[in-house]
Amino acid sequence: MGKIYLDNAATTRISDEVLQEMMPFLTENFGNPSSIHSFGRVAKSTIEKARRTVAKYLNVSTSEIFFTGSGTESNNTAIKCAVRDLGVTRIISSAIEHHCVLHSVEAEARAGVQVEWVQLDHEGRVNLAHLEQLLAQPAGKTLVSLMHANNEIGTINDLNALSQLCQKYGALLHSDTVQTIGYVPFNLQETKVQFLSGSAHKFHGPKGVGFLYIQGDVHIHPFIDGGSQERNMRAGTENVAGIAGLGKALEQSVAEMEANRALVSGLKNYMIQQLTEHLPAVQFNGDISEQGGNYKVLNVSLPPHPKAELVLFNLDMAGIAASGGSACTSGSEKASHVLEGIHAAPNRKAVRFSFSKYNTRADIDAAVQVLSKMYAGQAVEG
Ligand code: PLP
Repeated sequence: MGKIYLDNAATTRISDEVLQEMMPFLTENFGNPSSIHSFGRVAKSTIEKARRTVAKYLNVSTSEIFFTGSGTESNNTAIKCAVRDLGVTRIISSAIEHHCVLHSVEAEARAGVQVEWVQLDHEGRVNLAHLEQLLAQPAGKTLVSLMHANNEIGTINDLNALSQLCQKYGALLHSDTVQTIGYVPFNLQETKVQFLSGSAHKFHGPKGVGFLYIQGDVHIHPFIDGGSQERNMRAGTENVAGIAGLGKALEQSVAEMEANRALVSGLKNYMIQQLTEHLPAVQFNGDISEQGGNYKVLNVSLPPHPKAELVLFNLDMAGIAASGGSACTSGSEKASHVLEGIHAAPNRKAVRFSFSKYNTRADIDAAVQVLSKMYAGQAVEG
């Protein structure tokens, strides 16, 4: 039986076109972009091409895009450099951010930065009235760090509304957009943010490469010291193949965006319908609507069952990959801080299914069948 991958919020398969684009930079075009000979020049121009792709997608200048080693690095850089270099003395964030944001904010709290947690609704969306209340209080220079779409439950924040509030109160805005880059359009001329991050492996690019957008009039010092790569902002020889892959993956995602959105959200809606039919007491976490939720993520709270804890194991035995929380914590017994943060049914096992353009309805049928059999008390075939 072929394996079925329903964990596309954790990572995605590299597309064939992306791999093809990367290969020359792992073989004959292996130059160091800092070298001035022809090998180096080819590498350098490849990086600049990818930078143009990212800048065009976000509608910003190429001088505002910096390649990094991951979404994690991008988020660390934004938060820690905003405190170190921009005089930030207060951070407003939320309890359901990805750990790379949460732990960065907590590290700053330990170092004496004032941290405030914005209230969320039961779907995990920022309570804008509470955010405004916090912003209106007298405080020092403030950084607001709030994600666009949550990686576990998919709920999407209105980036434009966050941006308007931050502008009104003179706060800096950082948004972890790792789960939405390549999936929805962005126009940073209309939606002003100071920092925004992306990671290639979430949109069919390679792992270990990301980018950070830094608005042109924001001046931070390097997070990693060393050579003059990335216009002195991020030292270290560039991951040329990875950056080429990121550029190609984004180009492809943009070209296919509407078709993929229709396909993937169709799969999600089909799974919602199938689960509701076969497991009537099922619950969904986060906003599952087309407008308010990430169309690739479906977080399901299973009805109570003595063997519910074994659900991921049963799926895995049937060759189906899903996740019990975010990728970083899946496999651990620790409760999901996101589900706790929205007060999701605490006595129910939750499973995150996340889809891609490579999935089919047959994949969904297979997963629903495993769950139905489990609840019907039948043995699950491997
Ligand atoms: N932010 C979000 C919302 C994510 O889902 C992830 C990946 O799990 C990251 C940040 C980290 O990105 P990376 O895996 O590139 O470090």
